[in-house]
Amino acid sequence: MSTENHISKHDSPPLIIYVKGSHREMGRQIGEQTSEKVKHSLENAHHLLESTYESLQLTWDGAEIQARKYLPFAQERYPEIVEELQGIAEGAGVLFDDLVVLNAMEAVTTDALHLTKCTSIAVNEQRTANGHVLVGHNEDWVPEDESDVFLIHAEPDNEPKFLAMTYGGLLPNIGFNSAGIAQCCDSVYPSDCRIGIPRVVLSRAILSARTPAEAIRHMVAPLRAAGYNHLLAHESGELYNIEVSARKFAVLYAERNAIAHTNHYLDRNMQAVEDEPDELICTRVRYHRASRLLEQTKLHTTQTLQAILRDHVNYPDSICNHAINDEDPLDREKTITSLVMDLTARQMHVAWGNPCTNKYHTYQMDA
Ligand SMILES: [Zn+2]
Repeated sequence: MSTENHISKHDSPPLIIYVKGSHREMGRQIGEQTSEKVKHSLENAHHLLESTYESLQLTWDGAEIQARKYLPFAQERYPEIVEELQGIAEGAGVLFDDLVVLNAMEAVTTDALHLTKCTSIAVNEQRTANGHVLVGHNEDWVPEDESDVFLIHAEPDNEPKFLAMTYGGLLPNIGFNSAGIAQCCDSVYPSDCRIGIPRVVLSRAILSARTPAEAIRHMVAPLRAAGYNHLLAHESGELYNIEVSARKFAVLYAERNAIAHTNHYLDRNMQAVEDEPDELICTRVRYHRASRLLEQTKLHTTQTLQAILRDHVNYPDSICNHAINDEDPLDREKTITSLVMDLTARQMHVAWGNPCTNKYHTYQMDA
């Protein structure tokens, strides 16, 4: 894979689609409008398993058998989200079983894919020039999926509206809703994973939360398979990192009106269930870098957060990630999209690809 193929420069803003209705109906509308992206992401996932067969020993059929074990847990607690996934499969014209594999990929590969090395940051109204609550996130993933990035503006029946980013056939989970809740997810590596509700499913549910406590209850849903760090922001200025594993969690509060997270546990009790902490070095460097950059500016703006997300210290494993030439295919990744959410103005500023080479485009949630 040559570097040149992945110097991502996008002249157009990423696609935004508008959906509305029941979960099944929204799923169908998502699938119909993004069919090519869904199919492309499934092809990528097939290739990924093929190229890593030597280390993972996992075929696509094997992955389907594994993924099927997780499905009943999702169906029991979040039947509406399983319906949404069925809708996406119908709309896109792909097999539901294939989409289940994609949405349980981290679980079926037992986290051997050390991919989602994201960075999340937030500041509240006491730390911004215009008194807005701002949240930033770089989504780091396999370069091949960059073309599948898109935004969803959704008006679900009986739930808050939301504006979220996703790619290919993955359920949306990074974004904000009309109840003033914003969420970013950062991979962490718990050692207590089990068969249960896949992370992507319960993260999708958080977009329906009306209060911070309701969002946190989804994050720590019983019988979850594993866990992310969820950076949770509320329009009131409340900022949290909720660090989750399959059986434990920690609630970390932004004492100084700013917060950052990368891909290792910050809480001492959570560190007890961290898998192979000595592998998680770059994430520590990124965390400290992001924290210091947040601290250095007294009053932030969308531009100052964007500048942090473009940072290249510790290149290529920097906040703006360019680690596409890693010799281990399990570790090959880059920033495929970067976003700054203005929770107060209900806006999302999105750069498609690395934010150092692509400008941010602004999307507004409808009133
Ligand atoms: Zn860069």
